[in-house]
Amino acid sequence: MKILITGGAGFIGSHLSERLLKEGHEVIVVDNYFTGQKSNIHHLMDNHNFELVRHDITMPFFIEVDQIYNLACPASPIHYQYNAIKTVKTSVMGAINMLGLAKRINATILQASTSEVYGDPDIHPQVESYWGHVNPIGIRACYDEGKRCAETLFVNYQRQNDVKIKIIRIFNTYGPRMHPNDGRVVSNFIVQALKGKDITIYGDGMQTRSFQYVDDLLEGMTRMMNSRPDFHGPVNIGNPIEFTIKELAEHVIELTGAKSKIIYQDLPMDDPMQRQPDISLAKKELNWEPKVHLREGLLKTIEYFKTVI
Ligand code: NAD
Ligand code: UDP
Repeated sequence: MKILITGGAGFIGSHLSERLLKEGHEVIVVDNYFTGQKSNIHHLMDNHNFELVRHDITMPFFIEVDQIYNLACPASPIHYQYNAIKTVKTSVMGAINMLGLAKRINATILQASTSEVYGDPDIHPQVESYWGHVNPIGIRACYDEGKRCAETLFVNYQRQNDVKIKIIRIFNTYGPRMHPNDGRVVSNFIVQALKGKDITIYGDGMQTRSFQYVDDLLEGMTRMMNSRPDFHGPVNIGNPIEFTIKELAEHVIELTGAKSKIIYQDLPMDDPMQRQPDISLAKKELNWEPKVHLREGLLKTIEYFKTVI
């Protein structure tokens, strides 16, 4: 198949490009390099089935493909808050442009939505039927509400125009090729540990996240893209094993053998207190569940960061 990946030079997109090329598909990446890097996909450049286009998805893009993975959007709070208006534009205008394209060429389009649509959830674990608890004017809103609006656009293009849509809600994902300065907790802690610097926990470290290794995400994502035509989601794709941020810091210190000490800093506004996916729907519809345990995934990620810092 011919497959378009928006945001393909980013962390997840570069792994997805690699996987789809290995499966024998033709892959076209569009990216504006806001948070992505050419070095993430440099090793794919010689593959004659791979094409890279510098393009911003807030502008229309025309191509003939069978499938579209819409991943373009900064994902780390530091990056998506850097230019909040642009983040909303990327989510909303990007979705309109890509849905318009999918409609015209009759392609299946998958949206990389997020657990952030649940906001600071008051039900636990989070099921897809939960509508969420999002502050529409907070500092995370540009991302959360942008992604919520993108979901709205997706379901309405399906209802009104029969566009073949798929929505996955991705929970915190980590692995090699995360940007060392992107400010997300796994990359921050590993980089701090490898540099022998203090590990910065925001708040008391009792907030939780459920960390998914990137290979598990790719398996769930590609299964969803190729799932039965009348299954549109949204479906949670995440690892249901929940850790406190303090436990994560302790794991990173142990696995890197670092001498770093933990320091505590202010918790950012609207930082969700807990997050854990209910993955019953993914199990039932996609026969999918994550396989990589946190320690195993952290070790692979630590090895990667040793090569880049
Ligand atoms: P990333 O920042 O590494 O990748 C995003 C890519 O999109 C980058 O290459 C960036 O340059 C590109 N991009 C941003 N704005 C663009 C625009 N206007 N036009 C073209 N390209 C643009 O982030 P990631 O972790 O790889 O996330 C990929 C997708 O998955 C995002 O949509 C994100 O919201 C979603 N997601 C990620 C996680 C996670 O934990 N990593 C969790 C939930 C959802
Ligand atoms: N966090 C932290 N120290 C850091 C970076 C993040 O304690 O150096 C915390 C952050 O406040 C949040 C959690 O780790 O509670 C996950 O943060 P991240 O930015 O990775 O993802 P998100 O909040 O979007 O889930």
